[in-house]
Amino acid sequence: MPADTYGQVVNSPVGRFVAKRTGLPRPVALERHSPGDPVIRGQVLLGAAPGAARLVEPLARVLHDAHAETATSLEGPVRSAAAAARLDAAVFNAAAPGDQRFKALVFDATGIADSTQLVALQGFFHPTIRRIETSGRVIVLGTPPRACATPREATAQRALEGFTRSLGKEVGRGAAVQLVEVAPGAEDQIDSTVRFLLSPRSAYVSGQVIRITASPLHPEVDWGRPLLGRVALVTGAARGIGAAIAEVLARDGARVVGLDVPALGEELRSTAERVGGEAMELDITAGDAPRAIAERFAPGGLDVLVHNAGVTRDRTLGKMPADRWSELMEINLSAEERINDALLDGGVLAENGRIVCVSSLSGIAGNAGQTNYATSKAGVIGMVEALEPVLRERGGTINAVAPGFIETRMTSEMPLALREAGRRMNSLRQGGLPVDVAETVAFFASPASAGVNGNVVRVCGQSLLGA
Ligand code: NAD
Repeated sequence: MPADTYGQVVNSPVGRFVAKRTGLPRPVALERHSPGDPVIRGQVLLGAAPGAARLVEPLARVLHDAHAETATSLEGPVRSAAAAARLDAAVFNAAAPGDQRFKALVFDATGIADSTQLVALQGFFHPTIRRIETSGRVIVLGTPPRACATPREATAQRALEGFTRSLGKEVGRGAAVQLVEVAPGAEDQIDSTVRFLLSPRSAYVSGQVIRITASPLHPEVDWGRPLLGRVALVTGAARGIGAAIAEVLARDGARVVGLDVPALGEELRSTAERVGGEAMELDITAGDAPRAIAERFAPGGLDVLVHNAGVTRDRTLGKMPADRWSELMEINLSAEERINDALLDGGVLAENGRIVCVSSLSGIAGNAGQTNYATSKAGVIGMVEALEPVLRERGGTINAVAPGFIETRMTSEMPLALREAGRRMNSLRQGGLPVDVAETVAFFASPASAGVNGNVVRVCGQSLLGA
């Protein structure tokens, strides 16, 4: 993996001094998850806007179950919700002097029913935001605007997105800020999302909106090994992001089948060996690939399908021959569609199965020289949106990760100036690691994420590109 030399130099004693004097960006070393770690180390402050805040109690329950050290703001409803959830919480009085610090600030904004009430955001975060620790977490929870009862409420809830995206850009020191929209009736589905966003598993995810919808499924999960007993297929698993996905899914308990082209057979076998899984040498664009994949698993025997294989074939459109376009489109999009059809029609994907796709920031923001790539990756998002109801019907889900600048072979081949710009033009001032993408894939793949369907989550450190 290419080294982030700038990041290392600027964090050395002399580099720190120079960066401070000259205003150069100084990326902090992000915390990352290791097996056995608690969900979060440090205190979580729980607060809520006045009004009918419907998530404080479910949140208090999640924090209790996750053994998170918690404090609550003074308001009566938050205190009583914590008590109802048997959450042993300290009290934070913003008016009292003190140097109390927080690892996370969690705010239930569902009670905001009108734009005049948005000031509750200022009320909660103004006295607390500068108390947040390095690699801290901010989570604001609201209602999807389309599910709101009145136009006024929908307007105010939509406004939350501007707040979280801006706060993500100003908070600094490796902290991440997200908005979680919880549909009415999905209050009992927030657990996996809140745990993911509180923990260092979401190190490189910031400025995102995750939507949670109702689901009748509430599987019991072992949070240490949520994928125990599950079978996962990861395409493009020989190296890079795919190899990291195979490792993280195996760490979480899955039996992993890694797939890649025969030319990378040796690297693929070494990934498979490392994760105690199996290797499947196959070109996904081959005519019989969908059938070969379907035959590899028993009916209902595949729980998680990760479409990670992908290529770039950059050229400006005026210089783009048809074969360069088509070869890429086949690998990045059309082959995935055929594989989905074979696995869904043949009943190979388990009833409550998961499909996780790998899109790209290029598919959201567009990129010069990548009309073919961006078309394919926007198509991946279209595929997620189109198949969401199909998977929902079966008790399953389909979601996508959209990586930004990730330190891999793909990005190490970029020209230096472009590479350095890619690394720094985001709120966290650094590139992500393949494991960051893999952790988000594992979050989608978890049986506990039954209410997380049709989402596209960017793993981009809140890149300045795109929305
Ligand atoms: P990579 O080139 O290291 O890995 C891609 C893997 O896909 C390779 O092992 C390759 O052999 C395999 N593959 C390609 N064509 C295949 C085929 N026809 N059949 C089977 N396997 C095939 O690249 P990476 O950076 O690890 O990218 C993984 C995914 O992430 C891709 O979909 C890519 O578009 C996406 N992505 C990467 C970045 C980044 O910054 N690296 C950013 C956004 C999106």
